[in-house]
Amino acid sequence: MTEAPPLLEVTDLVKHYAVRGGVLRRQVGTVHAVDGVSFSVGKGETLGLVGESGCGKSTVARSVLRLVEPSSGSIRLNGQEITGLSKAAMRPHRRAMQIVFQDPFASLNPRMTAGDIVGEPLSVHGLASGEKKQQRVAELFRQVGLRPDQMKNYPHQFSGGQRQRICIARALSLGPRLIVCDEPVSALDVSIQAQVINLLIDLQRQHGFSYLFIAHDLAVVAHISHRVAVMYLGRIVEISDKTELFVNPRHPYTQALLASVPVADPKARRLTPVIEGDVPSPINPPSGCAFHTRCRHVMDRCKVERPTLAEAGGGHQVACWLNEGTGRKG
Ligand code: ADP
Repeated sequence: MTEAPPLLEVTDLVKHYAVRGGVLRRQVGTVHAVDGVSFSVGKGETLGLVGESGCGKSTVARSVLRLVEPSSGSIRLNGQEITGLSKAAMRPHRRAMQIVFQDPFASLNPRMTAGDIVGEPLSVHGLASGEKKQQRVAELFRQVGLRPDQMKNYPHQFSGGQRQRICIARALSLGPRLIVCDEPVSALDVSIQAQVINLLIDLQRQHGFSYLFIAHDLAVVAHISHRVAVMYLGRIVEISDKTELFVNPRHPYTQALLASVPVADPKARRLTPVIEGDVPSPINPPSGCAFHTRCRHVMDRCKVERPTLAEAGGGHQVACWLNEGTGRKG
């Protein structure tokens, strides 16, 4: 018997943007937004994707949803290649994949009622109309913790957390198998963040769909993710089971990200210093390991040779020369 494919399988995804300049708008450089990223998301699984701003996380999300066209690489949904599909051939896959954005206010039409916003995908895909649609929307409102009588209200009449619940209801309306959450709680107060994350977890338990959950903050992905992938300058530098990553982070970048997670005890001593400086420009990424310019363990080799993701034991993969001899195969 052949094994069922993962829900989402991304292989060697690359997205480069041309940088143009001068009066002739000639190409003067290339932004290496995503530079060879591979990962999979199983059915009912949540993969957290973390990294500082500018590391390429949103570009991965938008490529998976075909909102941007990848430069190269393969994206398979339920085993079927979706890169290169025409608009019409993409239609059934569009229903299966939904996105929840960071800023719920910007992604909601201020002139539509919350009920119309949540019901719109049902009309667009011809799935329900009239009374049937109203009932389905009311049910979606209940599922995300809103009251059906709030369907007639406009986005400005809701709080930030409630607006994100409207976005989640809209994403749920078509019965998706994958929901891409792009920094879904970053714009919300900390107390509200936990409520929205708990809602997402409950909904996954009920419906069994998968999440690709993007955040710049490891603390945010900690609770919801089953596995976590850490991105730096367009590449995944470490990927592993969530608990293993938090207990045994191997890449100096992951260690630094973990060190910047706030701790409750102000007297607690940090073993790893918090990372300093900014992510270098993806137009001319550093040679060798792109993290070498900020790494406190940098060796000569790191400046010239780029480490690839290699097994560090138990499905934990890391791209770092320090990992050699601890399970690295080459
Ligand atoms: P993240 O989500 O991790 O913050 P992004 O995927 O938004 O990162 O961006 C990765 C890099 O690609 C950034 O340097 C960003 O400036 C660049 N980028 C994103 N979209 C475009 C675009 N349309 N044109 C040119 N550069 C872009």
